[in-house]
Amino acid sequence: MGEVPSPINPPSDCNFHPRCPFAIDRCSVEEPVLKEVGSGHLLSCHLYD
Ligand code: SF4
Repeated sequence: MGEVPSPINPPSDCNFHPRCPFAIDRCSVEEPVLKEVGSGHLLSCHLYD
């Protein structure tokens, strides 16, 4: 099991990277930007850049 992000001190990375099976190096150093991917759906993931 991965770590749960602290709500008091949120990391400057993707909040899911400790437990994401698709995480890449970038996920632990850079927070992905939230973007709309159509039909009002929002996505925040480096794999969709
Ligand atoms: S940015 Fe995407 S691939 Fe990376 S940890 Fe977050 S959800 Fe997973």
